[in-house]
Amino acid sequence: MSLLALAATALLAAAAPVAPAAPAARPADHVFILMLDGTRPDFLRRARAPVIHALAAQGTTFLQAETTYPSQTRVAFVSLPTGSYPGSHGIVGGDEIKDASWKDLETGNNDPIAAQALVARPTFFEEAAAAGLTSIYAAMKGYELVGAKGATWTINGKQTLDQAAYAARYAPDVSGSADLALWYKQRLSRDLLDQTLALVREHKPNLVVINLGSPDYVGHTWGPEAPPYVHTIEFVDGLVGDLKAELQKLGILERTAFVVSADHGFSDVDPTRVIAPAGDTARQGTGGDRAHTLDALAARGIEHFVTNTGGASLGVYVRDKARVAEAVALLRREPWVEAVYCEPAPAHCDLSLSSLHSYFPGRSPDLMVDLDDDATLNFPQPGQHGTHRTNDMRIPLVLSGAGVAHGVVAGKASIVDVAPTVLRLLGLPGTVLRPDGRVLEEALAR
Ligand SMILES: [Zn+2]
Repeated sequence: MSLLALAATALLAAAAPVAPAAPAARPADHVFILMLDGTRPDFLRRARAPVIHALAAQGTTFLQAETTYPSQTRVAFVSLPTGSYPGSHGIVGGDEIKDASWKDLETGNNDPIAAQALVARPTFFEEAAAAGLTSIYAAMKGYELVGAKGATWTINGKQTLDQAAYAARYAPDVSGSADLALWYKQRLSRDLLDQTLALVREHKPNLVVINLGSPDYVGHTWGPEAPPYVHTIEFVDGLVGDLKAELQKLGILERTAFVVSADHGFSDVDPTRVIAPAGDTARQGTGGDRAHTLDALAARGIEHFVTNTGGASLGVYVRDKARVAEAVALLRREPWVEAVYCEPAPAHCDLSLSSLHSYFPGRSPDLMVDLDDDATLNFPQPGQHGTHRTNDMRIPLVLSGAGVAHGVVAGKASIVDVAPTVLRLLGLPGTVLRPDGRVLEEALAR
């Protein structure tokens, strides 16, 4: 374009009447994201879960939705609000994350709010706040609040829930009773929902995330194949029904969209073979407790540190980077090692961490290992998760209600697609969020 034409265009633009900014279309005034922690979609389908099944029938279901790797609560609950992979948001693992100098970073067990500084991407709570909308993040385990940057109100279940029930969340029995132990685990979700509803009644917030954690506790304690697991999914379905009834009473149900999903699935594992058992400090040779040590590496004097990323996968920090390839080769000889991922990927790793969108430079472990399902990490639990296997990675994903397409069954989606889709449902412009995921157009009403 010539300078003259440019000038003419500029003049025209200046002369044109300025259209008033159209109000953003807001298909829904409220979005409730109900996370059924550790719920496998195949078990949800076969459960007597009439409320969620009806939401699915009236809305959109993704049959091949996946979480991010490692398939673990802390990681997923940052992927959800940021709409991005761990390789982008930087919360790459479990209880322990080290920086490049092996300094331990606060990952949220003690101070989840301080750990928010580690999150390298904005959240949909920040986007909502910038537009004057309000939000709640109700965390069952406390450390999910690492992903709560910008939420108007937060609930830290670790502090607000009944302490006796909370302390027994992984116990197979309480006062000699498995029934009481199961009831405690289920009640934690009931109580967290009640605490959330108290805030909802008062403030009618626009965006709500609740982690209904009971299926995870039951899955670890008895395994996903045991009847209490599916019964707990059914119990949580009842809670979703109670939530809907409450929103009806408040007069906001018609303007509410629901997202029903989970942070990860579950593997049924053989709990007799415990790798790097916790609580056994009788260690010879290398120092450090066994929970953080792999015998195969210790025997060769490779200084390392093991971090638990869900019970069925682990991360390994290796002090001497020149010995990473040697560590990989040693681990690949172990019968309990199903896959090894590392960065950069020497030829003998199965995949690179960056190909799994899980590599955050200066923070990721040097390698990650998926355990075979005949082994469990640290604790003898019959249910674990964390691997890249379908059982661990696949999650339910149902969208339903205001602004959502009716009766659609779709295929692939990722937990990172939820945040950009929620922005669209709330009519938010997406000027704050920097998601890796996509808007799930096929789930939107036209
Ligand atoms: Zn878990």
